[in-house]
Amino acid sequence: MASVKVAVRVRPMNRREKDLEAKCIIHMEKSKTTITNLKIPEGGTGDSGRERTKTFTYDFSFYSADTKSPDYVSQEMVFKTLGTDVVKSAFEGYNACVFAYGQTGSGKSYTMMGDSGDSGLIPRICEGLFSRINETTRWDEASFRTEVSYLEIYNERVRDLLRRKSSKTFNLRVREHPKEGPYVEDLSKHLVQNYGDVEELMDAGNINRTTAATGMNDVSSRSHAIFTIKFTQAKFDSEMPCETVSKIHLVDLAGSERADATGATGVRLKEGGNINKSLVTLGNVISALADLSQDAVNPLVKKKQVFVPYRDSVLTWLLKDSLGGNSKTIMIATISPADVNYGETLSTLRYANRAK
Ligand code: ADP
Repeated sequence: MASVKVAVRVRPMNRREKDLEAKCIIHMEKSKTTITNLKIPEGGTGDSGRERTKTFTYDFSFYSADTKSPDYVSQEMVFKTLGTDVVKSAFEGYNACVFAYGQTGSGKSYTMMGDSGDSGLIPRICEGLFSRINETTRWDEASFRTEVSYLEIYNERVRDLLRRKSSKTFNLRVREHPKEGPYVEDLSKHLVQNYGDVEELMDAGNINRTTAATGMNDVSSRSHAIFTIKFTQAKFDSEMPCETVSKIHLVDLAGSERADATGATGVRLKEGGNINKSLVTLGNVISALADLSQDAVNPLVKKKQVFVPYRDSVLTWLLKDSLGGNSKTIMIATISPADVNYGETLSTLRYANRAK
């Protein structure tokens, strides 16, 4: 049964917000997140009767340091709450997919990659995987093979982040294997033996990501980055050799700020449309999967015919093998605490709410 978990993480106020003397409009209590529209007076309603506060319930609501909550959620806690489960299910043979969704500057890369002082989910999941491999090989006859790849989808085109510039770096073709499903032709795959190997590749890929070859600034906020770990376990089961393969996709999505076309022309217009298309499709896919898992929980509900539109974007098509089926899907919506970002934050909270 597909499982979809949704978490929301608020980051501390940044310098710009502090300079603007922005107010904190996010309040979290247990799994609930409440957003306040300061333009609507207390006790009153805004034009067309809008409410001042809206409350959403997710699987997890993660506080940041500046909410001064004693329950403030560190990188370590995010890993303990969400990441350890990903490691565990990889050993059990399941696929998993973790996304960070939110406007640019809300903490997606911080949550997924982290910064030099405090690593995020991707390095911690890799570390967790290797420490468990080391523990297991000490006691078991099992052997393991771990491969990683790292790609970027920009304007519906796939680019390899782990290959030196060559004809096989840009604009890779997405094909479909009759048994294994969608894959990227010519994408480089790197065998890794320990966490140090992964770290080197992550660093190289991250540098490639920021020095984009398109000649445009800040492409990374307008592209989706997918870090994939393919984990193979070989062992003897009742004297018979058997192999289990699991895939973990860890995704830093393009900024969700409304990519509508005000003022945009040419490349920007097309780019905005493509970002929108993948994020909307991803929302539709996850929401369809969440409906399916609801059906599975409640046997009295008549089985619906739910269509999952994987094919509508390169992003969802490539992640198909880790979305749905027996896979674990986790969405982390990252938000700013400040009133100046009210509109974007509300739209992120709504997007995350649909995924439940
Ligand atoms: P995005 O990837 O969504 O564009 P970043 O992850 O780059 O945003 O975050 C923007 C800035 O905010 C970075 O300087 C980052 O270190 C900081 N930041 C984000 N989330 C947190 C957090 N939970 N705690 C502390 N700092 C954070």
